[in-house]
Amino acid sequence: MRQGNFSPLKGYDLEYRVIAANDQTTRELIEAIARVVIQHADELTDLDRAIGDGDHGVNLTRGFAAVLERLDTIGDLPLGQALGEVGTTLIRFIGGASGPLYGKLFVTVGKYIDDAGVLTQQTLVVAGEHAIRVLMALGRADVGQKTMLDVLVPVLEELRTIRAEPVLPRIRQRANAAALATVPMLALKGRAAYLGERSQGHMDPGARSSELILATVCRHLEGMPLV
Ligand code: ADP
Ligand code: MG
Repeated sequence: MRQGNFSPLKGYDLEYRVIAANDQTTRELIEAIARVVIQHADELTDLDRAIGDGDHGVNLTRGFAAVLERLDTIGDLPLGQALGEVGTTLIRFIGGASGPLYGKLFVTVGKYIDDAGVLTQQTLVVAGEHAIRVLMALGRADVGQKTMLDVLVPVLEELRTIRAEPVLPRIRQRANAAALATVPMLALKGRAAYLGERSQGHMDPGARSSELILATVCRHLEGMPLV
């Protein structure tokens, strides 16, 4: 970890972490995301069994297994394009609500990462803002409705406003707290909404998978060299 090593850029209020992603780190990042989701498939499916139809882990595994099969091709692309390919693969292979949503998330974030693969806090905030706007429109959803947005939006807010180091561990904590905060929520979107008040008392499966993905990205960036 290189927590003391942020480079503030002129003209912005925020501190920036500048990271160049080469082919190797792109491949490692995508592989790490796919593996963590697949490793937690049973947990995600159990959460979905409580308030949905019990397929969230199965759905995501289908999509991310297809990503792993294509890793040799995807991992050689510049980071932005690679994330785009991950997104289109998820859209192709996942049937449930989460497929198009996660698919669009990866596609949109990928569009805002240039071919040099240099990530800054600013780049990530801009990419995240666009992705969340796309997701909200696609799912006609907002925060507070017990979905993956209840992790993605608070994490973006944390990334936008954070001033103190260590940034990435704090983001991970925020993701974890946000996923936990979906437990008492009443589901208003997706299949869980049919349960009404019975949806309360369980963590939203998509919130948990979002936490897992974001925590994996953070851990990966924590270990990457700064430019
Ligand atoms: P399905 O609901 O079709 O079975 P999954 O089980 O794979 O699909 O995914 C369920 C997750 O998708 C939910 O836990 C929730 O986080 C997310 N989700 C469902 N509908 C929406 C929506 N309209 N907007 C955002 N996220 C949603
Ligand atoms: Mg489901």
